[in-house]
Amino acid sequence: MSNELCQQFGFDRSAIGERLNLLGLGGPAIPMIAAELQSHVIQPNVDTIIEQFYEAVAQTAEFRSLALGESQVNRLKMTQRKYLLSLGQDFDTPDYFESRLRVGAAHERSGVSLSLYQSFYCQLQNMLLALIPEEIRHKPDAFAELAHFIIKITSLDMSLAIEIYHSNEVHDLEDSITVCREESELLRRSLRFDTVTRVHSRLFVVEMLDEKLGSAQKNGDPLCAVMADLDHFKLINDAHGHQVGDHVLHDVATRMVTGARGSDIVGRYGGEEFLIIFEGATLDVARDLAERIRIRVLADPFIEDSKKLHITVSLGVAEARASDDAETLIRRADMALYEAKEAGRNRVRTELDITADSRATTA
Ligand code: GH3
Ligand code: MG
Ligand code: MG
Repeated sequence: MSNELCQQFGFDRSAIGERLNLLGLGGPAIPMIAAELQSHVIQPNVDTIIEQFYEAVAQTAEFRSLALGESQVNRLKMTQRKYLLSLGQDFDTPDYFESRLRVGAAHERSGVSLSLYQSFYCQLQNMLLALIPEEIRHKPDAFAELAHFIIKITSLDMSLAIEIYHSNEVHDLEDSITVCREESELLRRSLRFDTVTRVHSRLFVVEMLDEKLGSAQKNGDPLCAVMADLDHFKLINDAHGHQVGDHVLHDVATRMVTGARGSDIVGRYGGEEFLIIFEGATLDVARDLAERIRIRVLADPFIEDSKKLHITVSLGVAEARASDDAETLIRRADMALYEAKEAGRNRVRTELDITADSRATTA
């Protein structure tokens, strides 16, 4: 028998010795008392013990609810017989510990609760104690020794069963923690993306801006934020319906992503507004990139129900300063966007184009 459960529970020779000492199962007299248990209590009564034990166990609703068939009960009785005839024999070996851990595991797997399993042991303890013959009862010392041994040896088996049940509870807990982690990861992922456009969500893109801005400021690298807003988008909804509007939003977002560089981050900031992060880009570079996106959106009409829809976008660009946080940077990009709208839409404006007028309007 490979002692894998012993290994799992760390029952090497020294841990076994420790458990036995703890239960008072060490000492030179023990083998003799164990032999007495077998010859005076168990062997003469083994069939009676098994029958009485199952009769008592069958009274419990929990055992009945397991609805074991006759052949299963007979198998259990055979195992029980083997167990009884080995009780107290060679219990200081890894093989014994392994076999008790396995029996505990089998009960746990078959749905027997720990409390029921423990009451089986108590039942057995009581039966064994009651079967101590008269001739031993008359000798108080011998009786005490044997009675104590019965309690200790059944306690050992009970303690090994508890190991199994406890560890499985810990595994169940670990499993449910893993499930929670996976679910929260799914949730986190779903919060990262916008369902209509499939680009990043506002939550995520603003979080990323915070993060990227922090490292750009720390390393002295340039970074630009762009606010983009579709022009007269309300007219698309009014003329073609909200659903068509949604399709167009999705397609525009895709063009923004393909128009940007692979490392740029595009997120839906609001209704038909997008926030784009150009990491490592100065204002000039970012203006060119924004222009590329504007052209990409404008270049081909969007086809919906075989109708051609011409969409344009206005974009405002701002470059990060040492004193910026995400909010102040977005505000300047928004002011530049306002300039683009004011200048007639379908164009790119940077924060350098912000006039005193728009400053007052968007403040
Ligand atoms: P402007 O050029 O000044 O930006 O004009 P606009 O019509 O785009 O601006 P306005 O803010 O007046 O309207 C924005 C429109 O975007 C109104 C709203 O119906 C539409 N919109 C916002 N979110 C969604 C959405 O999720 N789906 C669809 N289909 N339309 C949306
Ligand atoms: Mg708009
Ligand atoms: Mg808008």
